[in-house]
Amino acid sequence: MTTDNTACILCSRNCGLTVTIENGRFTRIRGDDEHPVSKGYICQKAARLEHYQNHADRLTHPLQRLADGSFVRVSWDEALGDIARRLIAIREKHGGRAFAFYGGGGQGNHLGGIYSQQLHKAMQSRFVYSSLAQEKTGDFWVNGRLFGHQTCHTTEDVEHADYVLFIGTNPYQAHGIPNARDALRDLQRDPARTMVVVDPRRSETAKQADIHLQIRPGTDAFLMLAMLGIIVRESLHDRDFLSRRCQGFAQLEQELLAVPIADYVQRTELAAADVERVARGFATARAACVRIDLGIQQTLHSTLNSYLEKLLYLVTGNFGKRGGNNLHSFLLPLIGHSDERMQKYPRTAHHRMFPISGLYPPNILPDEIAHAGEDRIRAMFVDSSNPVLTAADTAAYERAFGKLELLVVVDVAMTETARMAHYVLPAASQFEKWEAVGFNLEFPANAFHLRHGLFPPLAESLPEAEIYTRLLEKMGEIPPRFPLLERLAGLEPQITGHVLFLGALAATLARKPRWQPYAASILYRSLGRTLPEGAALAAPLLGLTTVYSRRHSAAVRRAGHRGNKLTLGAALFRAIIERRSGTLMSTHTFDDTWSLIHHPDRRIHLAIPEMLAELRALASAAVPGADFPFILMAGERRSYNANQIFRDPAWRKVDRHGALRLHPADAQKLGLSNGARASCRSATGEVEVVVELDDNLRRGTATLPHGYGQRYRDSTPTGPQINRLTAAAHCDPLTRTPFHKYVPVHIAPVAT
Ligand code: SF4
Repeated sequence: MTTDNTACILCSRNCGLTVTIENGRFTRIRGDDEHPVSKGYICQKAARLEHYQNHADRLTHPLQRLADGSFVRVSWDEALGDIARRLIAIREKHGGRAFAFYGGGGQGNHLGGIYSQQLHKAMQSRFVYSSLAQEKTGDFWVNGRLFGHQTCHTTEDVEHADYVLFIGTNPYQAHGIPNARDALRDLQRDPARTMVVVDPRRSETAKQADIHLQIRPGTDAFLMLAMLGIIVRESLHDRDFLSRRCQGFAQLEQELLAVPIADYVQRTELAAADVERVARGFATARAACVRIDLGIQQTLHSTLNSYLEKLLYLVTGNFGKRGGNNLHSFLLPLIGHSDERMQKYPRTAHHRMFPISGLYPPNILPDEIAHAGEDRIRAMFVDSSNPVLTAADTAAYERAFGKLELLVVVDVAMTETARMAHYVLPAASQFEKWEAVGFNLEFPANAFHLRHGLFPPLAESLPEAEIYTRLLEKMGEIPPRFPLLERLAGLEPQITGHVLFLGALAATLARKPRWQPYAASILYRSLGRTLPEGAALAAPLLGLTTVYSRRHSAAVRRAGHRGNKLTLGAALFRAIIERRSGTLMSTHTFDDTWSLIHHPDRRIHLAIPEMLAELRALASAAVPGADFPFILMAGERRSYNANQIFRDPAWRKVDRHGALRLHPADAQKLGLSNGARASCRSATGEVEVVVELDDNLRRGTATLPHGYGQRYRDSTPTGPQINRLTAAAHCDPLTRTPFHKYVPVHIAPVAT
């Protein structure tokens, strides 16, 4: 029996865990008091992680699919050798446009992404598709315009705010903020603080709120605009902040003064007095912040919603201060920057879509594969993702993936996407290797947690670092050894702070520019050999800590790390390697906010022409789905769902069927009772569901959870495959993020 520290991988909070392990299994899981952010906090899901680590769908060996659809076991050498040959042939014949990559990293599995991104470079392709681009790219796009770079990402200081506005989010179940349930309890208990929840459902968070605005689905933009209109008309905006820190407010002000407030409030079906009370309360609070999530990022007007929620805290000056919304620094950057106004970012062949933050939206991928032209996508890698079930229109994905000349899936389990692959490559689980998350999103204090491996890799499974490095070697992109770098890496790093090694690495890459895209694998093969057992794949972090410590040296020193200009990065790297519960990597000051803005004038540019045009057009916006009686909010977060991470349905203590929640009065009208079977039909497809009555819903709405529908051990789907209902074209026109929270459907009893 051993006890160790690690982190939960089930949501973006990645709470620290202290685990007990017996005979290769988790037997006890609790919060890690030493974790610098979660400090012992966990929710009920973490206790079920044994169902992720050990289950019947785990992959143990590389597999090749035969013509009859069955799989045969092959060696790593055979699999990677054949994949390398086929990739090179496709690249040489059709160029980089013929290759696309999907995924790369799960909720707590981001170190692998450093290695997998080298493959796109080897394939000379920039077509990276990601689930982030069906959730957050509207947010990233707006950040790019407001702050000058799409990697500028905001966070919210709920802990210190007097007034918190939760819009389209249910932190009690979805988390997303530090120690969510504790934070909600503290808010609720303090009579001097106010919590407002905007949600069509009386969610667990809404039940704790001071004010719940039970809004009509799809009308969030109208609500936020009405609030902004009230704020400027009543002169509640922060003129001093706007003139010192922003530009473009005069133009924005004209637009906000023209908002037809009464009409917009009416569309939300909320009481005007409630909207006014919230607008005034938010604007006049000492410190207020906004926390949003998919409820507004995956519904009508989603990119405009991202703009408006930011305007709420910017126009009222609740930015760059304690208790407000803030920018933060990243050690491991999850996203890049790709402003579509610059010509260098390639557009896709079919939809002519541009990338946002370097990512293309899953909504267009089936069309890009099925595209009739020579420039279609022919080969793909899918890594740690299951787009057949998680992207809009499952049937379209099944058809498109069936057309690929080469589909390779890297995953820990036999997923629905893996079943369609030509090769399936088994990755070590998130507890069988050293791993880290890119969700270092805190401000002013930010932390990083490198988890140590707890178990040996299952059978022949390998960490992504080894899989992609071997593939690059097979493709002839890099040699297997780097003797000089290996020698220097071992030279007294405690004394030299890796200065000699980093100098030699820079000289090597300058001499061999062809190797520059593969720095991660070169670090893995050289410095990695000198690190503690299992830590080799963390070697690229030395490059990241070096860059981070140069940019944020004062903040890194405030967090307790010591070193000079050349060695501070190595000191931070050592702390990250050694501290099993994670380490504080930086402590910023609120004044740092302005240096995190990328516009050369360090100001926030408020007037975004595309958003102002959409804002003006809102008054005449049609309401889609009027010929369907219900609006389904697909992908609800509940007590026992977690994307696709769990496959074994035994992990769930409740909600085995992933029930369709429906208001009792609606159910009665349809002749449906609790536990009845019903059909849920959209314009795209139909699923059979089990009904659960829920008077927390608005009449005319229904919800289904995400994270169901897997065919565990080749079974029939375990719960609803919700993306049989969603449509690729039902999405934001600018960013192509889907409207999963606004799916018009019919619901009817199923004859038994
Ligand atoms: S699922 Fe729960 S325990 Fe796991 S990271 Fe999220 S909040 Fe923490």
